[in-house]
Amino acid sequence: MESFSSFKISKQLQYAIEDLGYENPTPIQSQSFPVIQSGKDMVGIAQTGTGKTFAYMLPILQGLTFSNQLQPRVLVIVPTRELVIQVVEEIEKFAKYMTVRVIGVYGGVNINRQKEAVSLGTDIIVATPGRLYDLVLSRALQLKSVKKLVIDEVDVMLDLGFRFQLINIFELLPSRRQNVMFSATMTADVNELIHDFFQAPSTISVAVSGTPLDNISQYCYSVPNFYTKANLLKHLLQDSEVFRKTLVFVSNKKSADLLFEELESYFTTEVAVIHSNKTQNYRIRSIENFNEEKTRILVTTDIMARGLDLNLISHVINFDTPAFPENYMHRIGRTGRAEQEGTSLLFSTIAEQPTKEAIEELMGIEIPIIEMPSEIEISKKLTYDEQPKLKEGYNPIKDGGEGKGFHEKKDKNNKVNKGGSYKRIIKKKYKKPKTKGDKNFNKRNKNK
Ligand code: AMP
Repeated sequence: MESFSSFKISKQLQYAIEDLGYENPTPIQSQSFPVIQSGKDMVGIAQTGTGKTFAYMLPILQGLTFSNQLQPRVLVIVPTRELVIQVVEEIEKFAKYMTVRVIGVYGGVNINRQKEAVSLGTDIIVATPGRLYDLVLSRALQLKSVKKLVIDEVDVMLDLGFRFQLINIFELLPSRRQNVMFSATMTADVNELIHDFFQAPSTISVAVSGTPLDNISQYCYSVPNFYTKANLLKHLLQDSEVFRKTLVFVSNKKSADLLFEELESYFTTEVAVIHSNKTQNYRIRSIENFNEEKTRILVTTDIMARGLDLNLISHVINFDTPAFPENYMHRIGRTGRAEQEGTSLLFSTIAEQPTKEAIEELMGIEIPIIEMPSEIEISKKLTYDEQPKLKEGYNPIKDGGEGKGFHEKKDKNNKVNKGGSYKRIIKKKYKKPKTKGDKNFNKRNKNK
């Protein structure tokens, strides 16, 4: 195993590692160090508990020279206030023997104290997106010196609807910077963000810890559509002795709600659903009930399930086939823990066949197909997403004769990205001195 000494790090960081009692780097730390140190963009697929905070902070701290400039050179964006506090505390421990200034800012508390703290200068700022943006708009903070951007828990951030806020922040950063992001799960949204804003990033994915695949029996049902899948699921779940504690995965909130509706009419209080649009209290209660075996069936999205400590799950049902094979590994790893045997069932449509094959390739094994019981009703009903989308028929005026446009596109329709579009939108939106610093703004306008 690699040791920290092969990293070539400063004495100060070595002493901090000794104090923390870390003996060897974790896999995500070993793999991220050379990439982040090289200055390349990086995407890390790793869950909490893998040592990811130190994985990005170690190379960043190693490269951070002493400075007393006011504006931060390192920006770490995280989704929640709790995580800001935790990350700041960790950085303080890592940088114990260095002269590094770090500040955490988050919403829900008075902004003025944070403005004051920021005005004294910092090297590293750890922030939630909304508060960071407010601080910049109020001119308390400038991001022009940021050389390294880290976004942690991107999947959670996008699931909470922060995409637009992240893009706004990107616009305020210098274009020459290093981007590092961490996500526990890969989702279509995360993939899109990487594609749009990262430059040829290296992707590092750490193996899912814990469950050996040998403990999990895996099977697949070939099922034509959502509602037939729901019929099959209802049929299987009737056997409450076999399906003692079942976690049902779907890829998004919409499907989670739709499926929950279907199941609730059958299983009433035996079933619950969690996803990020449910209130925190509701989620906590649902998880507690499931853990105490008051509910037997829990429907969840990939993002919500991450980080949950759920023990002794008898079955994982993959109601859809995850588009990113790693998510399948995360899902099935919820069962077969602590030497217990677990079962995973995959429901796959023909359209999902290529993703099923990608999963099999990753695992190096084929998932055996079992026949659907003959009594399952094949539904003809399709969800909105399953319905074939109507294509407009051939229209000679719109499409032009022989497939060619018969006039040039008007200038305004020739979409060329001139860059800075968000800046323009923001400028328009905030052109008045809406800055919270202008105390007389309202007074002046009242008198008009
Ligand atoms: P994280 O994934 O960043 O939330 O880290 C999870 C926990 O692992 C934290 O409590 C860290 O202090 C700890 N940790 C990080 N790196 C190491 C390491 N190399 N050896 C032992 N523990 C570590």
